[in-house]
Amino acid sequence: MENETVKETVSKNFIEQIIEKDLAEGKYEEICTRFPPEPNGYLHIGHAKSILLNYGLAQKYHGKFNMRFDDTNPTKERVEFVESIKKDIKWLGADWEDRLYFASDYFEQMYEAAVKLIKKGKAFVCDLSAEEIREYRGTLTEPGKESPYRERSVEENLDLFERMKNGEFEDGTKVLRAKIDMASPNINMRDPVIYRVAHMTHHNTGDKWCIYPMYDFAHPIEDAIEGVTHSICTLEFEDHRPLYDWVVRELEYPHPPKQIEFAKLYLTNVVTGKRYIKKLVEDGIVDGWDDPRLVSIAALRRRGFTPESIQKFVELCGVSKANSSVDYAMLEYCIREDLKMKAPRMMAVLDPVKLVIDNYPEGQTEELEVPNNMENPELGSRTVPFGKELYIEREDFMEVPVKKYKRLYPGNEVRLMNAYFVTCTSCEKDEEGNVAVIHCTYDPASKGGNSPDGRKVKGTIHWVCAQTAVEAECRLYENIVDEEKGVYNKEDGSLNLNPNSLTVMEKCYVEPELGKAQAYDRFQFVRNGFFCADCHDSTADRPVFNRIVSLKSSFKLNP
Ligand code: ATP
Ligand code: MG
Repeated sequence: MENETVKETVSKNFIEQIIEKDLAEGKYEEICTRFPPEPNGYLHIGHAKSILLNYGLAQKYHGKFNMRFDDTNPTKERVEFVESIKKDIKWLGADWEDRLYFASDYFEQMYEAAVKLIKKGKAFVCDLSAEEIREYRGTLTEPGKESPYRERSVEENLDLFERMKNGEFEDGTKVLRAKIDMASPNINMRDPVIYRVAHMTHHNTGDKWCIYPMYDFAHPIEDAIEGVTHSICTLEFEDHRPLYDWVVRELEYPHPPKQIEFAKLYLTNVVTGKRYIKKLVEDGIVDGWDDPRLVSIAALRRRGFTPESIQKFVELCGVSKANSSVDYAMLEYCIREDLKMKAPRMMAVLDPVKLVIDNYPEGQTEELEVPNNMENPELGSRTVPFGKELYIEREDFMEVPVKKYKRLYPGNEVRLMNAYFVTCTSCEKDEEGNVAVIHCTYDPASKGGNSPDGRKVKGTIHWVCAQTAVEAECRLYENIVDEEKGVYNKEDGSLNLNPNSLTVMEKCYVEPELGKAQAYDRFQFVRNGFFCADCHDSTADRPVFNRIVSLKSSFKLNP
């Protein structure tokens, strides 16, 4: 039903239109896109959009897709992130084949490029302090002031820049600046800094360099060196595009790449900022960057999302020039749609109470044949043990039923899913008055859960055979932040946390088949939702399942 309401977009997005025009005009023979993460953290759902967009375009237009680590900034980068990022991208389904690059491998060429600009009289070494540079820069309404070092000769600039490279100057004492226009209405064009002195060790080049290029200078060069044609980035770089164009023009690349901006993907009420997540990790509120309540790719994978569901989500979000925010429910919709047919439907009792069938023969058990997914016969069937003592959900029994309650209560008959009709007779309680055991009788003629004589039952409940049940832990999640209060605390900007974001059900009983679950195996637990075996904590003795998503939602895709 819901599937039919999905609107198939046949129209091309604005980036596809640009590419098709460029190809038609013969501007590029073949396109090349790239994904250029800084290896300073884990990738999140927003990055997935950029990855799948860039990779998807390369696929669609039979071009190339480059994986490039933008590791020009030695302060924040860590090797461990390189590995996690590669893993996440592969998992998402994007493939760079042998096109893996590191921006730091181009430091020599970037240096040469800077020398070229100096020789053209387009760059100069400036001795102003960072603060002075800021003061001289002007504002949106006032033009900037030219640096007193702007008119240094080419020879002097070449000499100073080389000495910068050789480590003769302290950090912050000299920079190389592009000589563009201090009166430009675009502040990015007011003689931007393109190289700085920084005596730091780089994870790839070690101590070889003590000058490092700035992003706006380095990025277009990286693109040009690799033959990238369409350099797709997010909207905040729109004002930097004139500088991007200036760099590739002044460096006289024969087939200069072009920058195209699109809107970032934001999820409503979802935290993606590294700063916040780092704090959640450090404060022990989450159990690492892949805690299933987060939306890093690693967290989504651990929770049980599939690459296909994320691909679908990104596709539904579309590509646009206007910032907007998408509801998390849409991501949930995508995983439900994906798993509906793929995941076997199993029985798991999260909050168990014992049910005893008094007229079932003592000591007898039987194996019932149960389809793995009623909607998808291809998934086949399995056998599920059945016996005199079962576990059912505590909420499936009420001693005194509320109005319209259709499940077990004394005198009422229900269907045990795939098994038999049972009629509740009584219950036993513990000292505190909690229901401890429920008694019932079954109708042997209703085997398979089919009515023997046309009589109807209104309720169907799931169960697990007590004798063979496997004990398991199930983790249920809510948003980590309190949506009612608002994500951010108005006073100090901290997160308003939801105290109920994690519920651990420690003593669940699941059917024996689920005891064999391997990390990342996904199931539908009938009536309880989709679950995934936890990749860290699930063991053969005690499986642990993360709830990916519940079964129902009010979310509807726009027709
Ligand atoms: P964050 O600070 O959120 O981790 P970032 O922009 O600092 O993001 P980068 O490693 O620089 O992270 O980003 C790599 C690529 O991912 C860039 O091309 C960037 O434009 C893109 N990107 C980052 N966040 C999003 C987002 N929310 N939606 C779409 N693309 C994004
Ligand atoms: Mg960044």
